[in-house]
Amino acid sequence: MQRHPFELFLQTFEPLAEKKSAQLNRAAWILETTGSSDAAELKADLDIELRLLYSDPKAYQNLLAWDKDPSLQDPLLKRQLNVLIRSFKESQLPKDLLEAIAKKEAELSLTYANFRPIVDGKALSENELREILKTENDSERRKRAWAASKEIGLAMAPQILTLVDLRNRAARHLGYSDYFEMQLDLQEVDRARLFSLLGDLAERSDSAYTRMLESVKSRLSGRFNIAPKDFGPWAWSDPFCQEDPLDTQELDRLLDGVDIADSCKRYYEAMGFDVRPILEKSDLYERPGKCQHAFCTHIDRKGDIRTLNNISSSIKWLEVLLHELGHAIYETGFDPHLPWLLRQPPHMIPTEAMALIAGRQAYRKAALPALVGSGKEPLIALADDSLKRRQLIFSRWVLTMTYFESELYRDPSQDLNVLWWKLVEKFQKIPAPHGRADKADWAAKYHIALAPVYYFSYLLGELFASSIQEALGQDLASPLSGDFLRKKLFAPGNSLAWSELIHSVSGRELAPDAWLREFA
Ligand SMILES: [Zn+2]
Repeated sequence: MQRHPFELFLQTFEPLAEKKSAQLNRAAWILETTGSSDAAELKADLDIELRLLYSDPKAYQNLLAWDKDPSLQDPLLKRQLNVLIRSFKESQLPKDLLEAIAKKEAELSLTYANFRPIVDGKALSENELREILKTENDSERRKRAWAASKEIGLAMAPQILTLVDLRNRAARHLGYSDYFEMQLDLQEVDRARLFSLLGDLAERSDSAYTRMLESVKSRLSGRFNIAPKDFGPWAWSDPFCQEDPLDTQELDRLLDGVDIADSCKRYYEAMGFDVRPILEKSDLYERPGKCQHAFCTHIDRKGDIRTLNNISSSIKWLEVLLHELGHAIYETGFDPHLPWLLRQPPHMIPTEAMALIAGRQAYRKAALPALVGSGKEPLIALADDSLKRRQLIFSRWVLTMTYFESELYRDPSQDLNVLWWKLVEKFQKIPAPHGRADKADWAAKYHIALAPVYYFSYLLGELFASSIQEALGQDLASPLSGDFLRKKLFAPGNSLAWSELIHSVSGRELAPDAWLREFA
């Protein structure tokens, strides 16, 4: 049988992309584990080389033509074509526009990195500022710290607006109305469907959030010695009110005497996954020069899977390691017969869902005894309460961010500070403090400038995580759950669109119902 020209194209294209992407992942790993400037340069070069592979306009035209060819019927070939068309599409922008965007992003990134809020005459690091918001009981000093964290907004706003304009020009060049719409479309997300889902979630979790907020307010008003009506954003333990503000430091005592890596290894063993090869390749503990966050990388899509962590004895790092290993087992589970292009999750939503459902176990009454040992029941009950608050609070923050970004790209000329506070009041139910009228508080959030149109995936990941939990119908830590996940969630890789995958795992479209039953 004669082979389709698309198959011939794949025969040359795929090995090139596979090799370049593994090289890029290796360079990134060296950079993140050492901070080497050589690795940074190598990574930047490889990044450009990989992007060049996807930018050939003639190849893109061929892909579009093959997409209309009725003789191409094989579902795996059609899916690879779909994946390639979306990747090529992004790279079809004029070179000067791409360069202008990269340059503006680099400038903004430097400004964020160098910003130090000044509180009572002293320049503070981000950690020092957060420490004040976590531990200070004097409400006046908290207000000064909170306001100082927003100072960067005024300096950034005009630069971000230039970047928004460039991003919108790029989107229009590709036929979209704005950059938000473009990002969603390239990720196979339907805008109307996204907002109907978010609107539904907002409405149906409203009373649970309000009740939770009232109890948080009354506890914190006591701590800061203020009336509940004087409660402002400065009372939270982070500048954007996205985390649980109640003091949960005592939960770290759950980890007394616990080897977190060993405990996670045993947890995954109970699900039927041997994570030892992953842990052996991972970089687990703090070291100078090393990236301070955490991630999971699959270097070659052939089983070289590693995680980077900075484990310390805290509930946070138990959650993070469970989370990163959740991404890792997902990567071990692709059907090995899938072509390279499809040996990846179809979107970050399903892999985040796996990572989030695993991370949640660090707070769950049912899972904690296995993870941290018995005899810690009072702390375990506190952890379980805190999980619910975290979910409600985080969901409200994502609503603010997503509605704001959608409006920012639709009409960047509107009064964005007014819009920002309108949304914070509507979703997070936190009124703007006095004196914010001439500020640009929206521009103080790093992700608005440098990780755009991204947050919604975490919330959809949370919703899917709850649906998976219900579909399992039993504890995550059991061989049956492991089998289910391997077969239903991991094996298809990117052979299905994310929404089809979710349907096949949970038996229905993504909806907030399971999440609402669990947390609201
Ligand atoms: Zn993750």
